[in-house]
Amino acid sequence: MSEESRPEQGQEKSIRCHHCNTITAHKNIFQHYTFTTADEDYNPQNPDSTYQDLEEIFYISWVCLGCKNVTFEVKNFMEFPDGITRSNVNFYPEYNSNKKSTKNFKILPSEIISIYRESVLCYNTGAYRASAVCLRAALEGILSNKGITGKDLYTKIENFASQGILSNDIAKLLHTFRFMGNEAIHDLTKINPSLIEIKYAIEAIEIMIDYMYEAQNELKTKMRILTRMRDSESGE
Ligand SMILES: [Zn+2]
Repeated sequence: MSEESRPEQGQEKSIRCHHCNTITAHKNIFQHYTFTTADEDYNPQNPDSTYQDLEEIFYISWVCLGCKNVTFEVKNFMEFPDGITRSNVNFYPEYNSNKKSTKNFKILPSEIISIYRESVLCYNTGAYRASAVCLRAALEGILSNKGITGKDLYTKIENFASQGILSNDIAKLLHTFRFMGNEAIHDLTKINPSLIEIKYAIEAIEIMIDYMYEAQNELKTKMRILTRMRDSESGE
């Protein structure tokens, strides 16, 4: 194996993170090495040592310097007498381009954070029906937290639509969450919601949370700072 391809503990490289799904610097924080060969006396530390059918395996722990999660790499090299090296690489967890990370909402009530995170967890494991149920519950939690009342979710969405917090058109589209959740629980003859449907549904809930909680809080914080700066400049 060429020296360039030999992994080294402490080494850094940019790869797409299997957890946060972004290209970030990763650090090799620990590695373990094993080899097998037909030559019992072979010693990889000795350049004069010879071997036949050498197989080397590196077990590497890469930490993402962004999200701090660890991905495990098993890198396998087989070197044949004709000088050709063949390699094979596996990562754990496997990379999934559709995988979603949960957003860090700062001021969302904890019970809504919990059900939102569960919806993402279900989505990432392919449990789309369960994710639809969680999203429906998240919507109901948001409406209750905002003081919207009603005997059932249909009435709550209608009451919410009439309040003008979101435009009436958009608010009425929230009935889609009700349908998805109801079918997931009560009508097992319906086809499971698809990956793409649930992906859109989660992103819609995230935008709704941003709009109804996070953006307003952010705006308030920024405006308070700006007002304080203006006041101190004018000596008030
Ligand atoms: Zn990451």
